[in-house]
Amino acid sequence: MFDTLSDRLTSTLQSLRGKGKLTDADIDATAREIRIALLEADVALPVVRQFIAQIKQRAKGAEVSAALNPAQQVIKIVNEELVAILGGETRRLALAKNPPSVIMLAGLQGSGKTTLAGKLALWLRKQGHAPLLVACDLQRPNAVTQLQVVGERAGVATFAPEPGNGVGDPVDVARRGIDEAKHAQHDIVIVDTAGRLGVDEELMRQAADIRDAVQPDETLFVVDAMIGQDAVVTAEAFRDGVGFTGVVLTKLDGDARGGAALSVRQVTGQPILFASNGEKLEDFDTFHPDRMASRILG
Ligand code: GDP
Repeated sequence: MFDTLSDRLTSTLQSLRGKGKLTDADIDATAREIRIALLEADVALPVVRQFIAQIKQRAKGAEVSAALNPAQQVIKIVNEELVAILGGETRRLALAKNPPSVIMLAGLQGSGKTTLAGKLALWLRKQGHAPLLVACDLQRPNAVTQLQVVGERAGVATFAPEPGNGVGDPVDVARRGIDEAKHAQHDIVIVDTAGRLGVDEELMRQAADIRDAVQPDETLFVVDAMIGQDAVVTAEAFRDGVGFTGVVLTKLDGDARGGAALSVRQVTGQPILFASNGEKLEDFDTFHPDRMASRILG
């Protein structure tokens, strides 16, 4: 996903190599190139501005290291700042002291929420947990069945409303799902919620009602990295409407520019916990800001 960004940053930084000493003009020119590369990759403007200001300030400052030549120092600074906008440290899933822990998933329809529920369930099961999926997306006709299918593939149970009872109340299903988890000794409950095609108030209210009913330990905002600048807009809307404690980036295997998704951490202040990069349940892992920065810097 970040091939173009990676190529541009690498060649910009490469051009510094061989220079003995960097002048302020060299640093300004490099910063300008980096700015263009980030903007072209769809990184949000406020994030780019802050990033570039930090690079300039640090590169022009007296960060002299005997071990590194000036070009290497700039590369080190760019790497560190990239890690910083991606969240710094890897943030682990916060689980409750008294199980079951509740993880609620929120996001737009098509963001990859249901697939993610299966991926997360499989990942947790492999770590010895006994997750229960709870189907609270009662909006889309196939959503419950789809969750049951990914649940089966992940080898975990799914709690769903009984068929034939009309659309049903997602808040009630969520509550009963938690009861079922306690009863059947599941230590983690993953609550899938409805997503609309665009941000809408009813969706936000429903997600907020489910949140109030289940008091999640984590609310994960699931965002498709392919949707460009809308990723930031949607993240802000969910932050204000539902609130979330972490972000999951999906479809990082796509060929879109992806920089907007990389801005979500900085824009919302919430960490990226996981990354999804394919349709298979195994295409999923913990998000490591340092590894992502290394991947981008080539
Ligand atoms: P939901 O509407 O948010 O529940 O989204 P779904 O889980 O149904 O996913 C929507 C589509 O995106 C499906 O076709 C998934 O197979 C696909 N999808 C989900 N995650 C990924 C991913 O990481 N990479 C790719 N390429 N496709 C994905």
